[in-house]
Amino acid sequence: MMYADFYRRSVVTPEQFWRDEAALIDWNTPFSQVLDYAKPPFARWFVDGKTNLCHNAVDRWCETQGDQPALIAISTETNTERSYSFKELHVEVQRWAAMMQALGVRKGDRVLIYMPMIAEAAFAMLGCARIGAVHSVVFGGFAANSLASRIDDARPVLIVSADAGSRNGKAIAYKPLLDEAIALSSAKPSRVLLVDRGLAPMQRVEGRDVDYAALSAAHLEARVPVTWLESNEPSYILYTSGTTGKPKGVQRDVGGYAVALAASMKYNFCGRAGETFFATSDIGWVVGHSYIVYGPLIAGMATIMYEGLPICPDPGIWWSIVEKYKVTRMFSAPTAIRVLRKQSPEFMRRHDTSSLQALYLAGEPLDETTSAWIAGELGVPIIDNYWQTETGWPILSIAKGVEDLPTRLGSPGVAMYGYKVRLVNETTGADCAANEKGVVMIEGPLPPGCMQTVYGDDQRFVDTYWTQDGDAMLYSTFDWGVQDADGYYFILGRTDDVINVAGHRLGTREIEESITSHPNVSEVAVVGVQDQVKGQVAVAFAILKDANLGTAEQDIMAVVDRQLGAVARPARVYFVTQLPKTRSGKLLRRSIQAICEGRSPGDLTSIEDPSSLQQIQRALFASL
Ligand code: AMP
Repeated sequence: MMYADFYRRSVVTPEQFWRDEAALIDWNTPFSQVLDYAKPPFARWFVDGKTNLCHNAVDRWCETQGDQPALIAISTETNTERSYSFKELHVEVQRWAAMMQALGVRKGDRVLIYMPMIAEAAFAMLGCARIGAVHSVVFGGFAANSLASRIDDARPVLIVSADAGSRNGKAIAYKPLLDEAIALSSAKPSRVLLVDRGLAPMQRVEGRDVDYAALSAAHLEARVPVTWLESNEPSYILYTSGTTGKPKGVQRDVGGYAVALAASMKYNFCGRAGETFFATSDIGWVVGHSYIVYGPLIAGMATIMYEGLPICPDPGIWWSIVEKYKVTRMFSAPTAIRVLRKQSPEFMRRHDTSSLQALYLAGEPLDETTSAWIAGELGVPIIDNYWQTETGWPILSIAKGVEDLPTRLGSPGVAMYGYKVRLVNETTGADCAANEKGVVMIEGPLPPGCMQTVYGDDQRFVDTYWTQDGDAMLYSTFDWGVQDADGYYFILGRTDDVINVAGHRLGTREIEESITSHPNVSEVAVVGVQDQVKGQVAVAFAILKDANLGTAEQDIMAVVDRQLGAVARPARVYFVTQLPKTRSGKLLRRSIQAICEGRSPGDLTSIEDPSSLQQIQRALFASL
């Protein structure tokens, strides 16, 4: 089929298009209406239809391929490999569902999952989905303050966690961070369920903390039927950073998400039931939700969960996994490939990767050098895909499962089915001409699978993302883009204060708030600066209250580590006595960023004091 026709049908007659795609999943009760867009920008998909994510990911496959692998959890940190068939996974998720019910979790309740990349994390997610509890997974690399703000917002009745994660052979204790986060939080959960991996000692809080080993014994063979959910009931919340310091809870539905994932597994990732999918992300990110846990399983594929570094025990580890499990489709991030490119290719060439049919990369811009190198090494198509936590599945890519359109270096591809992508001129609001830079926007309704709202705050959803354009409403991705005459898009960076470090999305405001909590910092500006491996790194320029106190770069980094986690730690902290601002007091972050990257600071007509820029320059220069 021609992709152009497929795409046209998806946006001209979306209801017919998605009605057909809805047949990719199981429904307990059919829907009465494909789309309800009576209250834009809120889109309700598959109204009245009842389904369940856990049923579609697990139960559905037990009859036809119950003994085939479903979940393969590999840890090169603890040297363990555990494989669960669909039938075994079915037992595990029911056990988890039963345990959560025993701890008082009911349909609609939130369960916060703060876990390393172990199989139990996936069991907990699927267990929630099974009983209609709303999970909120928080990335294990986040520290107490980040975790506390998410606890406050989600108000979970239960937190699921573990003694520790592990990185490069070193245990990272989770429990003290969790206890500190709960102490900081104003919405304390009544129960905490803990998996003990034997990596770090845990102090139990009497009456609140429950051990997995003890509780599971009573629920080993539990039978917990699926709770059928109306398609628009919430399935999960996933927090993401934005312009303010307060993370937004991206809320997703059940039916629309299941259908969108099933469609993307067919048309984008081209995975067949029985094959093995390997996404190297983490369950704390959206890729982990969509393409480690739900997507592959909904497609009947085995999915690999990997805990460890891409270069340990040696840089051939991922390719040895591909070889051993005959992975057909792999999903990673450009950063990881850049790390591997720095290693000897010998490690990769030792392994037979002939099962692999395509490598998908997302999360940050894919540069031509990285793309060309890995394509040469693997000899398979490299498929860039552009999307965000909010959308849950690709906005731009090449849907090879529909038509084998060529990829174009530097471009993630064309608009995916269901997405009415428009490039809009920032000042005039008019649609851009070919090769004209604009903001990447999507005309509502967003397709199935995209966020329903900001958890608990419909108004924030509307105010943050949407603008009215005549009769239409436009959703902003907050990314700059440009489209060539053939319809291929190129992404040119964020329009807001969000930065992308090694594929991880971070808000500079959150980092600034953390740094200013240091008693000797009066003001700070954090910007994202280009980095050869990580894409971007955070760099901070701080003003001290008292220069004589001798506050060092390390002190400030330690504050960020402790509050937000090492992922948010700035790569450098420079000290200045003034920050560039407009006359109305707005920080000129883009000018600071430009100077850091050796570019011109841009239009400075509104700057209050140009000498502040020279300070930035001098600080950078002095460090060379
Ligand atoms: P997240 O919500 O963490 O997935 O981050 C989404 C953001 O990452 C997007 O808004 C883009 O700024 C960036 N991004 C994701 N994928 C790509 C890609 N393939 N090319 C360029 N930028 C990307």
